[in-house]
Order: sequence, then C-alpha cells, then structure tokens
Amino acid sequence: MFYAANKLYGITFKVRKDIPVYNPDVKVYEVFDQDGSDLALLYIDFYKRDNKNGGAWMNNFVDQSKLLNTKPVIVNVFNYPKPTEGHPSLISYDDVTTMFHEFGHTLHGLFANQTYPSLSGTAVARDFVEMPSQFNEHWALDSTVLKNYAKHYKTGDVMPQELIDKIKKAASFNQGYMFTELLAAANLDMQWHTLGTNSNITDVDSFEKIALQKTGCDLSYVPPRYRSSYFLHIWSNGYSAGYYAYTWSEVLDNDAFAWFQEHGGLTRENGQRFRDMVLSKGNTEDLAKVFKAFRGKDPDITPLLKNKGLL
Ligand SMILES: [Zn+2]
Repeated sequence: MFYAANKLYGITFKVRKDIPVYNPDVKVYEVFDQDGSDLALLYIDFYKRDNKNGGAWMNNFVDQSKLLNTKPVIVNVFNYPKPTEGHPSLISYDDVTTMFHEFGHTLHGLFANQTYPSLSGTAVARDFVEMPSQFNEHWALDSTVLKNYAKHYKTGDVMPQELIDKIKKAASFNQGYMFTELLAAANLDMQWHTLGTNSNITDVDSFEKIALQKTGCDLSYVPPRYRSSYFLHIWSNGYSAGYYAYTWSEVLDNDAFAWFQEHGGLTRENGQRFRDMVLSKGNTEDLAKVFKAFRGKDPDITPLLKNKGLL
C-alpha cells in the first residue's frame, strides 16, 4: 500500500516511535511529500482487541486546514489477528482490499489542501467519498504492486501467475446477484424518500412490491438486500435516500481507474494528475465537474460492468 502510494504520488513513510499512542500496538508514521517536506502523521491500529469495535475505518484526528495552520493527523483502524511468536498474521485477500480501501480515504485526507477544515479532504458528499477509497483498491491487483507484497511467508517467493489469474477470475463470481440486490435496495430507499407529503402508505409490503416493479428489480430469485421493515440504512444511520452512494462511487472509481489503464497505469505523472485534479480538492468545487475534468468526460458505467464481469 505504501509502495503503490510512492509509485503514484512520490510520498514516503517513516516510523516514529517518539509520538504518544493510545495502545502500544498502534504504529505512527510520518508522511513526507516528494520534496521531503512533511505532509502528515498516520496512525495505524492493525489488531483486534477485546474492547475494540469491529470492522475497519479511516478517521482524521486533526483535519488539514490553512486557516488553523494544521496538517492532517489520520488514523486507519483494522481488526487483523495479532501475530504471535513464530506465527505471522496472514491476512486474506479481502483484508488486503480493505487495507487499500482505508488507505484510499487516507490519501484523500493526506493531500487535502483547503483553507477551511469543514471543506477539507474527505468532507465531501456521500456519493463521492467512497470514490478515492474504492479507486485505491484497484492497485492491490496491479501486477507491479502485487509482486511487491504478495510473497510466500516462508520462502519469499512471489505469488505464481496461475494463482493471480485465479484471483482475478474469481472476482466476478456472483457479481450479478450482488449487484442486483444492491440496486433493488438502493431503488427502494430512494422511493421511500421521494414520497409526497400527502402519501398515506398503509401496506409496506405492497408499496415495496410496486416500487421494485417500477424499477425492474422485482426478481423473485434476487430479493432486495434489505426489506423495508428491517432496512436500517433507510431510516437511521444517516443514509436516508443515500444508499445508492456506494454504487455511484463504484461507477466513478472504475471509470477513474479506466483512465489510468488508458494512460499507462502506475506512473508518477498519472498519480500527480489524480492528486492535483481530484484528491487535493476536498469539497471546494462541484465534484461532478472535478470528476469530469479529470476523466475528460462524464462518468461512464461501462468500466464498472466490465470489472464485475457483466459485460
Ligand atoms: Zn470507505
């Protein structure tokens, strides 16, 4: 993950042992820009603990702001098993993807270049914030990056090409089902939240049925990922009418990655362009225009469909 960031953005990392941490297993890195100037501090909290929330996330301890003269202090939290004496912590490919994902949010926070902290870095609309993170996941399977980290823990041998091909092939397994159940749920969410003020819904199940029919998502063999009566994202957790956001971000991240593939992939020039035109913008410009300026055209769904093996 650091290797990919170095190849793309020229940044480097140095462990700092003199900075206080909230748990002895937390690692702190100082992050340097290409010219050697310091950019940020990055805390990484890798391991599971009994009193720790599950899952993985990125957060800013301190937001970048020119007004307050602050540089970003960012934390990445994971729940990987802690290595024990003689047993390294071997993580799954899903866990690798998660690490690249959270680090994508980190890059968005690291390269922030804003005056106001409220517009800084990742403080963007929900349907854009997952774009840099999901975009960064793509580098986990880049052949140069993969050869740098996917090594046998005993022999040090690089992962054989047949296995890499298998991972790539397996990536499209069940994508049709998963994508359809997500689209059904996102459509349902949106329809609940676009009801007029005078609507009087008395039968939730029939509302749901009609809503799914309207959007062509009424497939008996692919029910929506969540039904209305227990779809927590619709009513609380702040997602109201925003469940579509991950999917929209996916359209953007696949399309942005397609730009890289069309322009020579993992290079400093490409990374710098993405940093300057997208990652450093925070919420200071219309994000649709930001994306369009980078991509050279409006977002296209084709790269997402290809990536899922649906085209
Ligand atoms: Zn995320």
